[in-house]
Amino acid sequence: MSKKQFQAESKRLLEMMINSIYTQREIFLRELISNASDAIDKIYYRALSDDQLVFDKDNYYVKLTADKESRTLTISDTGIGMTEEDLENNLGIIAKSGSLAFKKENEAQDGHNIIGQFGVGFYSAFMVADTVTVISKPLGSDQAFKWVSEGADGYTIVPCEKAEVGTDIILQIKENTEDDRYDEYLEEYRLKAIIKKYSDFIRYPIKMDVKSQRPKEDSEGEFEEFVEEQTINSMVPIWRKNKNELTQEDYENFYAEKRYGFDKPLKHIHINAEGSIVYRAILYIPENTPFDYYTKEYEKGLELYSNGVLIMDKCADLLPDYFSFVKGMVDSEDLSLNISRELLQHDRQLKLIAKNIKNSIKNNLQTLLKNEREKYETFFKAFGRQLKFGVYSDYGTNKETLQDLLLFTSSKEKKLVTLEEYVSRMPEDQKYIYYASGESIERIEKLPQTEIVADKGYEILYFTDDIDEFAIKMIMAYKEKEFKSVSSGDLGIEPDADDKQDSAEENDNKDLFESMKGLLSDKVTAVKASKRLKSHPVCLSTEGEVTIEMEKILKAMPG
Ligand code: ADP
Ligand code: MG
Repeated sequence: MSKKQFQAESKRLLEMMINSIYTQREIFLRELISNASDAIDKIYYRALSDDQLVFDKDNYYVKLTADKESRTLTISDTGIGMTEEDLENNLGIIAKSGSLAFKKENEAQDGHNIIGQFGVGFYSAFMVADTVTVISKPLGSDQAFKWVSEGADGYTIVPCEKAEVGTDIILQIKENTEDDRYDEYLEEYRLKAIIKKYSDFIRYPIKMDVKSQRPKEDSEGEFEEFVEEQTINSMVPIWRKNKNELTQEDYENFYAEKRYGFDKPLKHIHINAEGSIVYRAILYIPENTPFDYYTKEYEKGLELYSNGVLIMDKCADLLPDYFSFVKGMVDSEDLSLNISRELLQHDRQLKLIAKNIKNSIKNNLQTLLKNEREKYETFFKAFGRQLKFGVYSDYGTNKETLQDLLLFTSSKEKKLVTLEEYVSRMPEDQKYIYYASGESIERIEKLPQTEIVADKGYEILYFTDDIDEFAIKMIMAYKEKEFKSVSSGDLGIEPDADDKQDSAEENDNKDLFESMKGLLSDKVTAVKASKRLKSHPVCLSTEGEVTIEMEKILKAMPG
């Protein structure tokens, strides 16, 4: 039997692929399992149009068998199998996808569950194996064939025996080297973990013989080992189920299982979008701020699945920074992936999904604010700062999205209020939305500047967060009411009748003010008589846009 050569391009591609396309070795298993699942799907789709063929779901599965002694890992499936020609065409020519061709042929018949399309996934097996053997018996034939390859050298095909229709992929796992360990791909726990991570939602059972222990019969305290076949994957993902089939607990379990957080989620959002872009998503708003949330180490992102197969752990493009606290996953059939699957080919669909998700999060937060105020305040205490950063960043382009989600402590009963609430109860003669900045509510309340506004019966927003005032400067005005710091020069408050003698007072004390200004010359621009003092002898006020608190922050900023 003569050894056939891979085509020249194929040879180069194979080397490249083994060394560089995939970032993680473990994904070879995802690729081989996806192929097995595709092969079963093909029987399923064929059965739809072929009366002779009955698809009984129980007969279709993928099975993994690891043998440490021979260092082999076998991935078997009961799928459609490959003819000699298929082996030659689909495995002999790299970047040729039999599955893509199948999808095209069966377009009328909705073959969209099939995962394969690039014709390279199979070769990822060479990242962990020296030799790959494929034994396959195609549907409707009695003859099986064996394809063997040691990588870039080429491959051989010979006839062989195989009892059932389907395919066995036998990997001769590489020996450990000083730098690289391959033993793990023969370990039961490791294989299970990889299956769970990438292939948990493959629609057919992925089985493995698993060693367990049980109490020995007729003995006390003794155990015996036994082997039992287990299905490792959960098959139907929770996001494919109907919302009304699922309980609060199901969502909480999924959150914990996925380790999105160690808290209980405050709220979940289950999306089943079927408009111009089809996707499903389960998103969570955590209850607590993760310990690293406001640090550089924190990585935002959602898990991204394409048709039930995990593509990316943390897809950052799916979330705007101001919603970076959201956890969860997105599954879409509409994504165009490139060959490594880790990179997305075109981001048009992704952008659409991201936009959709953003709006959905916003609407859900708004509903929470409206209907479950206490919960919303818990949320806001954990992540409100991030929303305010959001208003401030990107030159205020997000303020429309976010301004109605903000809460500030108000002088009125020291409760958290929205801008909407503040404005809706402003007395008619009140021109501005007043705010006062300071380190704490206690300190703000001691500020002499708050007195005149409070005396008027106007509400004041207390800004205790560095970012508050910056965010408000971006919003500029809410419902046409501008924001005004209580320490700004002109408060827009009508003077009371007894303030008439002002200018007289100013004149009487001219010398005093002059000499005070002399003494404070590098610290103040003017010393004036003030109309706003009630019980304090003196206060500082500013002219222009930057308030005293902002000045402090700006001065503390590096650079
Ligand atoms: P893709 O899955 O993107 O098409 P692969 O390199 O993973 O590319 O596989 C190449 C082709 O080999 C597949 O399209 C399919 O036709 C065939 N193939 C691979 N594995 C199997 C299998 N287990 N059963 C049947 N056909 C298979
Ligand atoms: Mg594939």
